[in-house]
Amino acid sequence: MGVGVSWLDLGLMVAMYFIGCHGITIGFHRYFTHGSFKAKRPLRIALAVMGSLAVEGPLVRWVADHRKHHKFSDAEGDPHSPWRFGETVPALMKGLWWAHIGWMFDEERTPQHKYAPDLIKDPALRAISRQFVLWTVVSLAIPPLVGGLVTWSWWGRSRRSSGVRWCGWRCCTVTWSINSICHAVGKRPFKSRDRSGNVWWLAVLSCGESWHNLHHADPTSARHGVLRGQVDSSARLIRWFEKAGWAYDVRWPAKSRIEARRQNVSADAA
Ligand SMILES: [Zn+2]
Ligand SMILES: [Zn+2]
Repeated sequence: MGVGVSWLDLGLMVAMYFIGCHGITIGFHRYFTHGSFKAKRPLRIALAVMGSLAVEGPLVRWVADHRKHHKFSDAEGDPHSPWRFGETVPALMKGLWWAHIGWMFDEERTPQHKYAPDLIKDPALRAISRQFVLWTVVSLAIPPLVGGLVTWSWWGRSRRSSGVRWCGWRCCTVTWSINSICHAVGKRPFKSRDRSGNVWWLAVLSCGESWHNLHHADPTSARHGVLRGQVDSSARLIRWFEKAGWAYDVRWPAKSRIEARRQNVSADAA
């Protein structure tokens, strides 16, 4: 024993992954950035914390960067466009790396007072955003802690550390792929002024965010996977929150609105 990955490791990893992922997609993105629904106070705070556990940077910075991304999508000023360095293959390779993670280390920062004044006004959100390092530690500590409690041994706890590293890197690999892959490839059934695409094979792992072409065509929509068969677990959860009375004024996409944003059939190719 002690080698390989146990079911407990795997279960913890999957659970932590989807908690953080939905914290980003439902919380940071659809709710805080785009206001696609309103949330009661406890849900608002819970979403801020859940998103912080995904280790994608502090809430206020995330929202400011993402609003700027929509304002300048794939043009000059977009903090993370894969087309930044040009359209040749080597330029796109460099651009994909940049859009995936390189941009995080850029010295030029999005002015948060300009792009996220609504969040800065809320003292609780400001505090959660400022405690980013704490949330990172909590996020890394949960799997070994739970693992240790379940197996009730130090042995269990130390073994869990292998799972911890995986959890730490989970969102770097998938949620950020929206910025890189979903602006480079994918189908474009909807009208948008950028290169955003719908990428079906990322739908489950990205919690429904890879229907990114629809998202740029209609940014405030609470559902991104609007066409038949498009899996969108974030939209499903928002629906449940709405039924529970925690979320209200949800901007569900009306059929006429979706149709109005459709491309001509001839431009439907990837
Ligand atoms: Zn985008
Ligand atoms: Zn967005």
